[in-house]
Amino acid sequence: MQVLKFGGSSVASAENINKVTAIVKQKLSAGKTVVVVSALGGITDLLLQCAQQAANGSENYKSSLQELEQRHLLTVKELIPVTQQSSVLSLVKKLCNEIEDICNGIFLLGELSARTKDKIVSYGELLSSQIIAAKFKSDVLEAEWKDSRELIVTDSNFGAAAVDFAATNHHISNYFSNHNAALFLLPGFIAADANGTTSTLGRGGSDYTAAIIAAAVNAGTLEIWTDVSGMMTADPRIVSNYKLIPSISYQEAMELSHFGAKVIYPPTIQPVMSKNIPVWIKNTFAPADAGTVIQNESTANGSPVRGISSINKISLLSLEGSGMVGIPGFSRRLFEALAGHKINVILITQSSSEHSICVAVDAANATRAKQAVDAAFAWEIETKKVEPLIVENDLAIIAVVGDNMKSHTGIAGKMFGALGRNGVNIRAIAQGSSERNISAVIAVGDVSKAVNVLHEAFFETTYKQVHLFIAGAGNVGSKLLAQLQQQNEFLKQRLRLNVKVVGLANSKKALLNDEGIDLSSWKNLLDAAPAGNLDAYISTIIEKNLRKSIFVDVTASDVVATCYNKLLQKSIAVVACNKVACSSAYSYYNQLKSSAREYNAKFLFETNVGAGLPVIGTLNDLVSSGDKINKMQAVLSGTLNFVFNNYDGKRSFASVVKQAQDEGYTEPDPRLDLSGKDVMRKIMILARESGQQIEMDDITNNSFMPESCMTGSVDDFYAAMEKEEAHFKAIYEKAAAAGCKLKFVASYENGKAAVGLQHINPEHDFYHLYGKDNIVLFYTNRYPEQPMVVKGAGAGAEVTASGVFADIIRATA
Ligand code: ADP
Ligand code: ASP
Ligand code: MG
Repeated sequence: MQVLKFGGSSVASAENINKVTAIVKQKLSAGKTVVVVSALGGITDLLLQCAQQAANGSENYKSSLQELEQRHLLTVKELIPVTQQSSVLSLVKKLCNEIEDICNGIFLLGELSARTKDKIVSYGELLSSQIIAAKFKSDVLEAEWKDSRELIVTDSNFGAAAVDFAATNHHISNYFSNHNAALFLLPGFIAADANGTTSTLGRGGSDYTAAIIAAAVNAGTLEIWTDVSGMMTADPRIVSNYKLIPSISYQEAMELSHFGAKVIYPPTIQPVMSKNIPVWIKNTFAPADAGTVIQNESTANGSPVRGISSINKISLLSLEGSGMVGIPGFSRRLFEALAGHKINVILITQSSSEHSICVAVDAANATRAKQAVDAAFAWEIETKKVEPLIVENDLAIIAVVGDNMKSHTGIAGKMFGALGRNGVNIRAIAQGSSERNISAVIAVGDVSKAVNVLHEAFFETTYKQVHLFIAGAGNVGSKLLAQLQQQNEFLKQRLRLNVKVVGLANSKKALLNDEGIDLSSWKNLLDAAPAGNLDAYISTIIEKNLRKSIFVDVTASDVVATCYNKLLQKSIAVVACNKVACSSAYSYYNQLKSSAREYNAKFLFETNVGAGLPVIGTLNDLVSSGDKINKMQAVLSGTLNFVFNNYDGKRSFASVVKQAQDEGYTEPDPRLDLSGKDVMRKIMILARESGQQIEMDDITNNSFMPESCMTGSVDDFYAAMEKEEAHFKAIYEKAAAAGCKLKFVASYENGKAAVGLQHINPEHDFYHLYGKDNIVLFYTNRYPEQPMVVKGAGAGAEVTASGVFADIIRATA
């Protein structure tokens, strides 16, 4: 004998029921067959809605009832030839009239008990199973229809009744041994208590009906036909890279379904497991797909973890108090209080100090649980031995499940490491003593990210997803986007990184696409994107809560720099070539560094000094390996170096500056470079990174720029420099007469920093510094005489973009 169960989506419409009929026909050759069906998809909810509307005194229940009737009538009309419709149409009408009578009663009384709810929802399966029986008949597929309420006996806990297996098994085996049909058809989900009053087995309970029958008749197999091709490594609605689990043990399937894998109703496994009956999960819409087999032993799949699941709508209850320590019986009383109110406990943790005990329950039960527990501990609460029960809502449970987890070390480490790196805060943890599952309570808003992160960690040997949100699409931004596009394949092949730009914003527009923006046409896409503002962009990044999110600031904007802390505190990494944040008040810089540490988010800004040159990285390596920075000397302005390397008094100083700007070396406002302010910011950042608490005011600036050049617009600035040409020429000639070059030098020693123009003679390290190159000399305990030198191109959009790119890759680690 075989038992086949078809779920709500499999029987949702005439078209789908035709598919079911074809499957059943094809299966019949395997022997005696029992088919169990759910209500038409969505009907149980609709029935509950009617009843609730009626109970609330809303006349709307009448239109909901009409919708219900129409849906069934239409299904019959589409499914069954006209000549054979009349008896089933009148049956549908009759049942719908009964539903209406009950709803009228509910409406008049304004009351809806669990018992009446069960009565109402039972019509869903009664209707579907009889429509399908008529369909089978019209297809010359004679099936014996049987009301499950005559076979399955439960207690009177309406809504989720417990099965009386002795009576049930007796009825079932009697019935099937006395009836010799080849095909039986039964409604799932519904049962009756000892008095014959209709009860149900809990939402999703048709799976259970099928399993109860399969076990009672010792079926060869149980097949659960649904709308997915088997049990997957994670809920397909949450993880797009889910994989089929071809084979899974009963225990694993039980754990996964207990923790939310809706594909199978949790109690389903128990009866079939005790009889060792294999369960297949199959897809009605792709019957040729292999599906999943659930049985005693599962085959290895290369990972100790079999699957990941999650349940939303969880509340966490904590009973705390010093009066609990060492006194036996507290836990028993807590659980008795909950059990007494039929509140199911999903997860338990107790701290070893015994000072608190924490349980997770379905959020729908939280208020009742609080009343029950506070009443049970009324005396202890009054005498301050325990606190009133603490209830936390809007939580979820995620669980990692696998039989082989017990023989592997490091799974919990990997799980919590991956969650921690992505800023998922864990409220409670439980590990079953069987070590078959590790579960954690987290915020509902983190579920999608958490499940994806774990799936990636345990199942996706392919690529690690990285999500970039870029601010700025100017000089550096556009070069960065080009480099990202060009390197995309390399990153996949060599680093197993799938780097997607999911957000791109400039000061006017914001473009978002979770699948990744097409980098070959980002300009057009950004032009066509809706208007955006920074606050909305940052909020969206936080709300999206995507794993491995990195915010990339390639602007020079003060306002963008103010957003970093908010992002870091959500564990979103920040990569910036924008110097504003690190060169603002020390307190802000320090706050960002501590947020990065505290929330485990990278904050990287290598390009703040020397563009793509490894200046900050080198300094950090020296310091973290125990060296001490005693002195730094540096030429840090690509712009000033370019200007003084090209200015020889033959053409105007202003025209050389303009050339530097045109070639993309300067800050958007070149006065930042010419005034020496940009160099001050850089030496300050280096000093801060070497451990010095220093502000801009602490740095001496021996500026060579006349005051007259530094006011007004950028155009005024160029005009003023033309007027001051004699001043610049004099500076140049004085140096040339001494056989020296001019370099704008930043120096730091003993906690003091200064910047200014210096004469550099041919023996100096800085003399042979050409074009827009930068150089930094680090004098440290390990490099006391001969400094460690970093030298090379220190400005330009291309090298800056490549430095930002390198930081992005570092941030993915
Ligand atoms: P039916 O109506 O056939 O009983 P359900 O909606 O109850 O179907 O269960 C099937 C659904 O379970 C799938 O569509 C899928 O969205 C969800 N699901 C959750 N977790 C998993 C998982 N690990 N594997 C497969 N499906 C899952
Ligand atoms: N129709 C019921 C429900 O929607 C039972 C089931 O489909 O398994 O919960
Ligand atoms: Mg189901």
